Amino acid sequence: MEREPARLLIALDFDGTLAALKRDPAAVRLSASRRSLLARLGRSPGVRVLVVSGRPQAFLRRALAGAGAALSGEHGWVLEGIGPEWRHPRLRARARQPPALAAAARRAVRGLKGGRDEPKTAAVAVHWRRAPAVIRDPSALRRVLAGIRPRGWRLAGGKRVWEFRPADAWGKGEAIALAARRLRARVVFIGDDETDEEAFRSLGRRARTVKVGGGATRARERVRGVSGVDALLRRLARV
Ligand SMILES: [Mg+2]
Repeated sequence: MEREPARLLIALDFDGTLAALKRDPAAVRLSASRRSLLARLGRSPGVRVLVVSGRPQAFLRRALAGAGAALSGEHGWVLEGIGPEWRHPRLRARARQPPALAAAARRAVRGLKGGRDEPKTAAVAVHWRRAPAVIRDPSALRRVLAGIRPRGWRLAGGKRVWEFRPADAWGKGEAIALAARRLRARVVFIGDDETDEEAFRSLGRRARTVKVGGGATRARERVRGVSGVDALLRRLARV
């Protein structure tokens, strides 16, 4: 039987939106209650849930197991669960760079206590939430990393992370728009960090955009924190 087309696409970031940030990014988990809330939302008629994140797709598959959500990892360069599985056409070409870039980043942050690189398929994140010297002065690390940035790549900031990403004009917002076109659905997008700001901007007035937490934002609405996201999801589940 054909599934009824979704009318509403609820897209959410993962870290800082569905799960509280941790000092160690590998320790971030989805709580059991939020997992069942997502599953309940996804079973609502006309609703589809999409988690869109900078994390590798394999991490999202493990972290969101049982949540019934479609998944878009690598900052929207991969989309699974809404129509045919999709990869950005340049993903394979861009995936050649990260091993060497991660090694260069590791050399660059050697001696930086608590700094940690996280290679992804088409990105390399350098986390510094456990590096007191960088917390005192983030600009020095930025300068060092800017010095090893390859052509065609950009260095973007986030919450206590610098990340090398392809300079291609494709990110979370474009992946959400692709999923929405496939579903012919309206969009709610909820996120907390710099990449989400890019998506708030690119989605513009086509979407209901919700910023999690404080700080300047292009989103049209705001909730207070991960608990505020729960309350919003519960309201959406009733609609
Ligand atoms: Mg986030």
